[in-house]
Formats: sequence, C-alpha cells, structure tokens
Amino acid sequence: MIRTLALTAALSAAGAAFAHEPAPRIAPSLAAHTAEFAPPKVYEPAPGVFSAVGYGIANSIMVVGKTGVVIIDTTDSLDEAKKVWAQFEPHAGGKPIVGVIYTHNHNDHINGAAAFPLAKGAKVIAHDTLLREAAKWNGVAAPAIAARAARMYGVFLPKGTPDGFVSVGIGPYLSAFGGGGAGGFIAPNTVFADRLEVSLGGEKFVLEHAPGETEDQILVWMPDRKILFPGDNIYKAFPNLYTIRGTSYRDPVQWANSIDRMRALEAEVLVPSHTRPIVGAEAIATELTNYRDAIRFTHDQTVRWMNQGLTPDEIVEKVKLPAHLAADPYLYEHYGTVEWSVRSIFAGYMGWFGGDPASLSFDAPDVRAKEVVELAGGARQALAAAQKAFDAGRWKWTAELAGYVGRADAGLRPQADALQAKAFRQLGYDSVSPNGRNYYLERAAELEKKAPGWAQIIGARQGSQAAGLPAAAVVATFPVRLNAEKAANAQAAMGLKLAGDGDWTVRVRRGVAETPVGVAADVPLVVAATKADWVAALASPGAMQAALASGKVKIEKGDPAALASFLDLFRG
Ligand SMILES: [Zn+2]
Repeated sequence: MIRTLALTAALSAAGAAFAHEPAPRIAPSLAAHTAEFAPPKVYEPAPGVFSAVGYGIANSIMVVGKTGVVIIDTTDSLDEAKKVWAQFEPHAGGKPIVGVIYTHNHNDHINGAAAFPLAKGAKVIAHDTLLREAAKWNGVAAPAIAARAARMYGVFLPKGTPDGFVSVGIGPYLSAFGGGGAGGFIAPNTVFADRLEVSLGGEKFVLEHAPGETEDQILVWMPDRKILFPGDNIYKAFPNLYTIRGTSYRDPVQWANSIDRMRALEAEVLVPSHTRPIVGAEAIATELTNYRDAIRFTHDQTVRWMNQGLTPDEIVEKVKLPAHLAADPYLYEHYGTVEWSVRSIFAGYMGWFGGDPASLSFDAPDVRAKEVVELAGGARQALAAAQKAFDAGRWKWTAELAGYVGRADAGLRPQADALQAKAFRQLGYDSVSPNGRNYYLERAAELEKKAPGWAQIIGARQGSQAAGLPAAAVVATFPVRLNAEKAANAQAAMGLKLAGDGDWTVRVRRGVAETPVGVAADVPLVVAATKADWVAALASPGAMQAALASGKVKIEKGDPAALASFLDLFRG
C-alpha cells in the first residue's frame, strides 16, 4: 500500500505540475553586471582613444593618431562593426584608417573588419599564428564546439525574461552565431612572432606576443602615452581559464606571466577588449596584480593538491579564492569559474585520469544507470527519489539521478527528462556565471523541445562553417567524418581538385581515411570544384546532386553513383 502511494506521488510529481518549484530568477550580481556593457556606449579613456563597449561580445577600439586611425579588434559581426563605425567616424576627423590590429583569433575580435573603410595599403596586423589558431576551433572539432557554444552563449534562449538569457558575461550578446570566419574577416598582411614596433597614423605602437587566453594573444602598447591594450588577458570577470564550449589547454602560468609583463609597463590607461577601460596607474596596477594572483592561486593550489594525490573532484572542494581576491569585482565569476579552472589545470598536467583506479574504466553508461536505479528499488522509486531531491533543493543530485532513470527506463524517459530539465533550470537560475546559466537553461530547453538540439544545430551550420577555412583544413575534416562502421571493409579513393587551392586524394582503407596531397594515378573517381562550391555541395546528398546538375561540381573520372556511394561513407 505504501509502495503504491509512493508510486502515484512520483508519477504525478514528475508530470507537469511541481508543487515546490522555485520561480525563475537571475543571480543579483549577474543582473547588476549587465550594466557594465548595456546599453552600448563609446568611452574615451584618453584623448583620441575610443572603446565601443556593448556592441556584440567584444569591444572595438579606435586610436585617432596625428595622421591616421588605428582600429584594435573589430567585434563579432559586420552588423555590429557597422554600428561601431557609425559611432567612431565623427571622432576620426576624416583621417584614413591606416591599421587594423587583431589582439587574437577569436571570432568576436576579427569578424567585423570589413565594416571599417580601410585606406589603401592599410596594415592588418596579428600574431603569426592567428590563422592557424583560428583553424583549430573552426576546423575538425567545429561541430562540437559550435553546438556547445550555442548553449554557452544562450543563442536560443528567450531574451529579457527571468527564465532566459541575461548576457554572455564579457559582453551583452553574441551578435552572429557562427564561426568559420564568415563575415568581414580580413586576413592579416603584417604578422610577427615576438615583438613588433610600428608607427601607425603618426603614433608609436609596440606589439608583443602575450599568450594567455589564447596562444596567439598579443598586447598593444603605446609607450609615449602609457596606454595599454591587453586584449582578452584581463576583463571585468574571473578569467576563462577554461571555456565550457570546449578548448585546448589555456596555460595559466603563461597567462600570469603575460600579465606580469603588463604590470612592468606601469600603464596609466588600460583599454581591454571586453568591458570598460580603466584609467589611473594605481587602479590598473591593483587590478593587474589581483588578476595574476587569482590565476596563480588557482593554478598553484590545484597543483599543490594534485601532488598530494587528490582527484579533480576533491581538489574542486579545496581551492577557493582568498577573500580579498573573491571580493574584487574583476574576479567575480561572471565569466570563468574557479571550479572549471581547477579541472582544466589538472587535465593540463595529468590528462583525463584523476588517479583513482575505480575511475580508470567504468561500466557502460546504460549498465551504470540500471545499477543505480536498481539500488533505489526500480526506476519508479528512483524517479520518486529524484523528485524528493528536487523538493529538497538538491538540484545537482536531481539532475544526475533523473539522468540515470531516463537512461534505464525508456517508458519513464519523458518524466525523467522533464525533471532533469527542471533541475537544470534551477542550477541555471543560481549560476553567477552566464556561461553556466546559459548552458544549463539551453540544455533544459533542448530537453523540453523548446530549442534545437545538437544534431539540428550541426545540420543547419554544415557548409557555412567550413566556407572560411583554408582548403587543407576542409580536406582535413574527411578522416574525422568517416563512418568507421560503414567503412569497416571499404577500400575506396577519390581525387579532389579544388580549383586554385590544390589537389588531394581521399583514400579509405577499412575504417580509416587519409588525405595525401595530389591525385593518385589509381583513383577510379576524380571530382573538381571550387572550394566554396565543394563545401556547399557536401552539406547533403541533395545539395551534391544540384551541384552536379549545375556543373559546380564536375566529375572528371567515374560517375555520380560512385561519388554518392563514396561520400556516403562519410555520413552518420
Ligand atoms: Zn574575446
């Protein structure tokens, strides 16, 4: 009898109505933080230096020199950059734009360049690894990063409601959901490795490699005026030592070292590429010092505990910022968090294995879910326990347990998903970091079928994403798209001629694809196209048929059926 009552309670609770569901809300400090960049505003922290804050994620900065204008970073889209230029132009006094400087490769800094009317011969300056670094995250891992970026930036969340999007932490919003270099990126024509001194518009600039948030990060220094442009190595939020959309390791030691070099400059004006400028040597010195101290504290204490044998889960419980750093608004967790950083630092040194052999190899997820559910007395009891955890405000355990229930029992999956979504919502509402908030809320919306899921996002972006990549990077995606199950016994090859961009052979050898340069003599199939047409045609079988019919993709050897069956090896 008691068992029956519990079951009934569980089923009704896991349905539409929740008796104890706290209302949607925004963490107060996160809500207040939005005023940092909304509404958009152009600041003039020093005569002739303008920073447009709040136009897309990143700032665009203009330096009006004696004879010309320099733009540092260009926002994340042409639309935002056009708005910025409309604000900048009256201050430019008709002087020509003689230089564009990218502080690093991220899309929110490079995609708006073409909106600025550059003078003929203008220098477009960046670190010499910018293109390579951009290809990293727009290349083979682009689909995963794009889908996770959609969540982290809250791309599909409702705006202006307490259950929705607030900001992206270091800017008001992502104006163009995208990557792939689409938009107004102009490739650099002047690059350097360590240091570049250059005169632009009658002003002296010193550019130095300053790896931190990215490997290609640079700092820009105007020595005569003591004005420092630190790129993304400092902004008003805890540094994103790890980004949950996915990234290769961001070395905190390098990052702190780069800030130490900035401290030595004794800047009087600091104009970061996100959030507002800081004026005054003392205030700048304080923030730079606190910032590097927070980075080093997080790194040093993680390594300390790691060396004492603790696992990442355990170290997360140990490493908390000292009170004086936690109280600095530049270190509020409005972007990165200490917890995510600890895990990243551990992985940066040790890789994924935490050290406990119980975690060296788990049972398969479905098996573990069934085991957990069985311990609870069955799926319905486990769901009831998850509901009880929700009612007690234990959102994390609710989310985990509901996940096991949904996996273990297909019949209860809808209720389990609904409950997990509710738990994600509460976790999102409590998040101070908008990255965390957005990710939780968007995943909840996916479970509730209110936002596109992973496959839909990837499907919609296929083609557009790869269009801006170098041809070699496009070809490099073949091996990671090979469907090894389909291709388990396949021996096949295709010659690919991308007009003006080079020729390749794509060869499939029983579950593995390789892509050597040049068309091998033995290939039975050869196709030719421009890179852009090829990328567009690859998006779907229908697109390929249309491209063959219009002649955008030409078969020089072989036939359409052979091409279709070859490309089918790369689907699914
Ligand atoms: Zn940025």
